Amino acid sequence: MIDITRLEKDIGVEQSFSLERKFDGLSDEDMDLNFVTPVKVKGKLIKTGDGILAKGDIDCTISVICYRCAEKFDYRVSIPFEEQYVQKGSNKPDDDVNEYDDEKLDLWPAIKSNIHLNLPMKFLCSDDCKGLCTQCGSNLNTATCQCQDEKLDNPMHILKKLLHDDKEV
Ligand SMILES: [Zn+2]
Ligand SMILES: [Zn+2]
Repeated sequence: MIDITRLEKDIGVEQSFSLERKFDGLSDEDMDLNFVTPVKVKGKLIKTGDGILAKGDIDCTISVICYRCAEKFDYRVSIPFEEQYVQKGSNKPDDDVNEYDDEKLDLWPAIKSNIHLNLPMKFLCSDDCKGLCTQCGSNLNTATCQCQDEKLDNPMHILKKLLHDDKEV
């Protein structure tokens, strides 16, 4: 909660803020992410004609699982956000607008939804992640397996090998 009593003066008045909150990842009802670091948010509130505009940057690191190799890795979330707030009870220009109570403004619900909206559908540990061997399940980033050699009976493989051998002659 941010005390906004100072903002209630004139349009254009700004107030900077810096928030930090440790989420016990998996236990938070609407935040089922595994946080490695606290969520840090820095920015400013600006008094506008209709209410308050909150602008800032969100920064945190979560632990995720690569969809290709199934290994856990740390994923950094570093995103800008901008949210509009109007005083509770006043007319909302549209549904995207948040509300604040008299003297305090709670940014966390908007911060949470901004984090969620900015996460990719799938996490990839690195662009060149080799994934798992479809035959034996070895993680090909860290292990080599013999499965490649056993695919010799695959027609495409034989063809490739023939073409390759030709070139070498
Ligand atoms: Zn991976
Ligand atoms: Zn294999």
